[in-house]
Amino acid sequence: MAWPIVALAGTPDSIGAEYGHHLLRRWYGVQPWDQTAEKDPRRITPCPITCQNPVEQPVRYCFRDKRSAKNLGEIVDKAVVGWSHAMVHSALRIQLDPGTGGDPEITCADERVAKDALVISDETRDGDEDYNLGPDCPTAATLGYQFIPEGRPTLPFRHRLRFCGYLADNEHRTKESAVRQMMHELGHVIGLAHEHQRPDRDEHIKFMCKRLWGYDEALEAAMKDEQGMMYDSEDESDDEETRVLKICNYPYYAKAYFPQALDYIRGDRFRGDEEEQIWKNRQFSDKFDFDSIMIYSSSDLAKEEEKRPMVRRSDRSDFYMGGSPDDDKVSISAGDIARVAQLYDNGTPECKQAQDGGNWGPVKITIRDVVEERVMPPWMGKRDEL
Ligand SMILES: [Zn+2]
Repeated sequence: MAWPIVALAGTPDSIGAEYGHHLLRRWYGVQPWDQTAEKDPRRITPCPITCQNPVEQPVRYCFRDKRSAKNLGEIVDKAVVGWSHAMVHSALRIQLDPGTGGDPEITCADERVAKDALVISDETRDGDEDYNLGPDCPTAATLGYQFIPEGRPTLPFRHRLRFCGYLADNEHRTKESAVRQMMHELGHVIGLAHEHQRPDRDEHIKFMCKRLWGYDEALEAAMKDEQGMMYDSEDESDDEETRVLKICNYPYYAKAYFPQALDYIRGDRFRGDEEEQIWKNRQFSDKFDFDSIMIYSSSDLAKEEEKRPMVRRSDRSDFYMGGSPDDDKVSISAGDIARVAQLYDNGTPECKQAQDGGNWGPVKITIRDVVEERVMPPWMGKRDEL
């Protein structure tokens, strides 16, 4: 049987919002924790509550090794500051695992550190520029928190944040751009998925897969089809265009021939028992958030700089991860804050207000004693109507 091509050419099959339908703000990510999560390993949740009064749900991290702590410590600190507007009226905290005693050089392997802590690693290799800038050096993080149901063997180091975004001597991988990327990765850890992978994204953005870096090689591989996945003797429409649609829109084919496209594929197109269920469990808001820290910038992964793989559907204009082309103006969005307030509800009136969007003034935050107290600018007020 042929793959259902009709879904590729048809109108977007949006599934609409369920939980949070009435909400004004914008997000896409995991569901709030409930008791079924403890029994179902496919239910990825926000981080669990570790303290009841006041309620705290910390992301507890450690570094894989001392090199990672040294290279990424300051970037993580600044990225945590970047999330301060979301933490101030919620139960979310982002902090070193208590087992480290506050020392970043006590690594994840130390027996005092909890095995469910987030393992942060610098994936770059000293002196290997080709690898560091190439497609095999990963920047990626696990989404949310995975409970291990009682009676099942635990999975140590199951929460990971691999980072390749900072190279001290490279003009494209600066500390400032690394902070933006680290804020984004922490967003995954908190439980937020890519805004541009929402099932309804085609109503808001135009995605041009052919403009992605690596497209030509991917198409060549799909035409050769050495894995024998593409050819279907009953499919009369098995031509080049059909194969393009497959590798650009369906994870099964993208995994084989075009892995770069995977982070652009709509969430409702992931198939396979467990994976499908995990994606289906995600929720999204009524409105689409072009300013989220969880959206890729229009120009990310572009084959040619002036040809953006994603633009706004309405006027073909660009958008940016964290709302700005300038690294020093990047911030989380009002939608990011609202979703954190929902997933990390500390029960206060301020948190309730934050769930529908609040009035955001400056926020002060101190990260350990290393970073000075800073005031975050209230960027939110200037954004387009929510
Ligand atoms: Zn991401």
